[in-house]
Amino acid sequence: MPDTITFLGTADGLANANRNHAAILAHFGGNTILLDTGQPCSQTLKRLGVGFDELDAIIITHAHTDHIGGLAMLIQSMWLEGRRRTLPIWLPKQIIRPLLAWLNACHLFAPRLGFTIRWRPITAAPIRIGNVRVRAIRNSHMDATRAKYGRRYPHVGYDAFSLLLETRRCRLAYSADIGCAADLALLCREPLDMLITEFAHINAKDLAAVLRDRAIHRVVVTHVGRHKQVPSRLLCANDGDVLRLP
Ligand SMILES: [Zn+2]
Repeated sequence: MPDTITFLGTADGLANANRNHAAILAHFGGNTILLDTGQPCSQTLKRLGVGFDELDAIIITHAHTDHIGGLAMLIQSMWLEGRRRTLPIWLPKQIIRPLLAWLNACHLFAPRLGFTIRWRPITAAPIRIGNVRVRAIRNSHMDATRAKYGRRYPHVGYDAFSLLLETRRCRLAYSADIGCAADLALLCREPLDMLITEFAHINAKDLAAVLRDRAIHRVVVTHVGRHKQVPSRLLCANDGDVLRLP
């Protein structure tokens, strides 16, 4: 099977009549990896004919609702459709405990599911999924919120990550949500076969400056902020788009 990226959801943080929230299915290096679980990812997987048993791993970049809102329903779908395979979920450490409480509140108790979820905190160490190596690069997306609310809500997670996925022959970067152009520049330091970048927290001028003289084969824009015009030379992803990786 060729390496492909399927956009399950390309909206920004606002409800959108025509776009789902952030979720990307990567068939990459022989593995099936879901990047973020914006709602309604379980419905979209169903529509695309992707079995709930097929997912090898999930990586959640940060705790904002538009990236995580579909997780409980996805786990419920796996349970009710009889998944048996262990499911690793990598995510910011601080949100594991509240997520477990949320799942319990939804009666998605671990012994009831019929499969094991391995909750894996994202650390500086590379993530291994089959022959895919994933580096999670912390970005500044939630730093302003931490500065404003961190003292009042100290136990909440404020970490957000961009992802670099590599096999021997392909390098794919996913910005997820960033805080500033420097976050994206850090992600693009090495040559890339594909960069998937958000376009809500960076403007066109800064994006152009970051991309200038970079060795990136293909740039795809998602998570486009309302009232933003994607530069015509960049490909803007729509829900359901399937892109082939080299
Ligand atoms: Zn966000």
